[in-house]
Amino acid sequence: MSTILSPSSTLDTDTLIQLSGTGKRYGNTEIIRDIDLYVRRGELVTVLGPSGCGKSTIFNLIAGLIQPDAGQVQVQSQIGYMQQKDLLLPWKTVIDNIALPLRLSGVSKKDSRQRAAEYIDLMGLRGYESQYPYRLSGGMKQRASFLRTFLTSQDMMLLDEPFGALDSITRSKLQRWLLEMKDNLNLSILLITHDIDEALLLSDRLYVMSSRPGRIVEELGLPMLREDKAQRLVSGELLEIKEHILSLL
Ligand code: ADP
Ligand code: MG
Repeated sequence: MSTILSPSSTLDTDTLIQLSGTGKRYGNTEIIRDIDLYVRRGELVTVLGPSGCGKSTIFNLIAGLIQPDAGQVQVQSQIGYMQQKDLLLPWKTVIDNIALPLRLSGVSKKDSRQRAAEYIDLMGLRGYESQYPYRLSGGMKQRASFLRTFLTSQDMMLLDEPFGALDSITRSKLQRWLLEMKDNLNLSILLITHDIDEALLLSDRLYVMSSRPGRIVEELGLPMLREDKAQRLVSGELLEIKEHILSLL
């Protein structure tokens, strides 16, 4: 059992995360069983499953917040973890919210604000740096949280239902925005969702989970329209895959 890659590990350099036969229980309840999952550099991988099937538990294992009872969790990258309810602190300005994890890790106020400021335009937050979070729309709050997470990793991001609380129009804008950010910032992303359309739009690869205990019932590669994912939602091929996934859930 380990959460950090040991020198003797067999992970190749492009495998950033690997779970092998991983299990976790709380008391007598088995939460997840025998999870095999990996993320390679540059991939956007999705974990799709019903509420309560153990998705956030998998992320907590990867982030090292909890330990597995069975199998292995190997991580070979600095991880940025945007948790399911990643709230901005209402009493801090937008820029100080974004810079907070850097401050906590010992970076000076000036340097951490500067690092955050470099990405303000890209995140569409120009002009809001000194505002308090209540002035931001739902989408802007999520972009601010995303930047806060990005600054702690710059490489591999775990996103736990990042668009779950948004209205469908904002959500669909942010899904496209995320694909742009992935390319612009050269990210590898592991994303949790319970929304099939979101998973089909965003994923290079997709794990489908079932519950009680949470298990992976299928792994699907989605190589089609990889360069123009926005076209996917009107693709007949993807509709067939959607029906297949629905039959699994
Ligand atoms: P998901 O993210 O897929 O909705 P979670 O991983 O949050 O699911 O939770 C899976 C199951 O584990 C749920 O039934 C939840 O109640 C249970 N669970 C999560 N964390 C704990 C904990 N700390 N103690 C006991 N049960 C927990
Ligand atoms: Mg969850």
